[in-house]
Amino acid sequence: MVERFDFRFVEFNPCPDFIAADIVFMSDDDKGGPKGPKYPDPDEIRKTIEGMFGKMGKEGFSFPGMAEAPFTSEEESDEVDLVDPEVDDIFQFDLLPRDIKAHLDRFVIRQDEAKKALAIAVCDHYNHVKTLRAEEENGEKIELQKQNVMVVGPTGVGKTYLVKHIAELIGVPFVKADATKFSETGYVGGDVDDLVRELVAKANGDVSLAEYGIIYIDEIDKLASSGGGGMIGRDVSGRGVQTTLLKLMEETEVPLRNPQDMRGQMMAMMDMQNGKKEKDTVNTKHILFIVSGAFSGLEKIVRKRSQAAQIGFSAEQAEPSMDGELFKQVTTQDYIDFGFEAEFIGRIPVRVVCEHLEAADLEAILKYSEGSLLRQYEREFEAYGIELKVKDSGIKRISELAEGEKTGARGLMTVGEKILRDFKYELPGTSVTELVLDEDLIDNREKHLKGYRELGQELVVEKARQEVEAFIREFKDKHGVVIKLSDDAVACLVKMASEQARSVFQVARQHFKDYQFGLKLIQKNTGQAEFILTETAVKDPDKFLSELVVQSYKDA
Ligand code: ADP
Repeated sequence: MVERFDFRFVEFNPCPDFIAADIVFMSDDDKGGPKGPKYPDPDEIRKTIEGMFGKMGKEGFSFPGMAEAPFTSEEESDEVDLVDPEVDDIFQFDLLPRDIKAHLDRFVIRQDEAKKALAIAVCDHYNHVKTLRAEEENGEKIELQKQNVMVVGPTGVGKTYLVKHIAELIGVPFVKADATKFSETGYVGGDVDDLVRELVAKANGDVSLAEYGIIYIDEIDKLASSGGGGMIGRDVSGRGVQTTLLKLMEETEVPLRNPQDMRGQMMAMMDMQNGKKEKDTVNTKHILFIVSGAFSGLEKIVRKRSQAAQIGFSAEQAEPSMDGELFKQVTTQDYIDFGFEAEFIGRIPVRVVCEHLEAADLEAILKYSEGSLLRQYEREFEAYGIELKVKDSGIKRISELAEGEKTGARGLMTVGEKILRDFKYELPGTSVTELVLDEDLIDNREKHLKGYRELGQELVVEKARQEVEAFIREFKDKHGVVIKLSDDAVACLVKMASEQARSVFQVARQHFKDYQFGLKLIQKNTGQAEFILTETAVKDPDKFLSELVVQSYKDA
């Protein structure tokens, strides 16, 4: 059989020196045949192509208009770095729900119901996987109903944080994406299959491990079609994405290389040429899907339903926000009314709520979470030799302000950054070694900043004084002459030292390096025991000294 692939690269986008090229692969029979044209050796072609890809860097290239990846590693600071876990570790899974909950308790404050439900779902999932594997090894075939999870809750309350820590604990790759970035076709937005490929990347190319990973999709509520609850709704394309996602959640084989990624396709082709027979699809059967969203409006649907059932329910009654109690009443039909396909919601049997966080919860996060921002701030100041002392009153005030941001625990970061920004800028490089963060500092930032500025200055002067004293002692010991420096002389030395990035001691030494000769002469003329060096002496040491010497002759 003749294997002949004719690739015509017309426009390779970001690589400027990559010009049009015709490449022909051919079978051995054709190679160098008397009638055929002179085709290059496949090996040479491979090397050339690899060279070209190498030049492009690891990002490779894309065709214009090609779908962007729906996520980037930089975007998701929460992503988990895996320490080379192996797929066999998953088959050793022996955690209990309470173990997982205990692990989550170290980092995540509140959200107990969500922690429990997630812990159970995850244990069930990986225990199923384990049993399934054992059964398959015995040649039996058993059914598995996957425990995909839906986490409902406002932004910044720990939804991602929970999933991240679970994945980290179990040692499976974890990918987070935003549902709003997908489109049905994958052309306008991202391609949902990219999620699975990203899992493989997170598993360092280990396809088997990726097949047991966790895919976390946020803002899933934005896929609801506007028809249903008439709330936020996207439109028909939201439904399309639901259908595409559904396929992934059930079971499908995702090609390891994106069909639109020319580089990937070429690599696959080369692997084929080289007789490599590695798995080139990823099966999604055991990938655990966790989806989340704020679902604002869902509570209205539940309320409407219960209102119909409840006689005497006042229409004016304040809208209840989604809390644990109301969430218990949410039914599958409510999600369908919200705008979800029945099949889609049916694939997500575990549903939990993460509740709104109040100031007291934010306070607890700062105080007790192992991932508390305070540790980070302390480390940041420590890098400049400054000890950050956070008082309880400071924690309380930050939490109150953060609650006002209405972005859950994310508000802590916004508020903390705002409070500390000026201090982080002004204090490093001064001699301040301690910053006390309390309520008063937060409420009177300018006043405290001024205070620290002055303290910094005082400390600089104090340190300079000590260096000047050391210089005076050295001068006396070496030359037997007693000198003193006026305050403005010291201030002038401090300024010079800072401009020259040298110590006050060094600057003083250099400035007055031959002063002993002149001063001794004066001593001889007048018997003067002690000399006071002023700002003028620092600014122009030669002039100052020669005037003193001249004067001493006159006096003598
Ligand atoms: P979302 O609910 O929008 O997914 P995240 O889980 O990404 O929010 O939370 C953002 C950050 O806020 C987390 O990285 C974590 O530092 C902090 N955080 C949020 N909720 C909690 C919580 N309940 N306990 C401790 N930290 C939290």
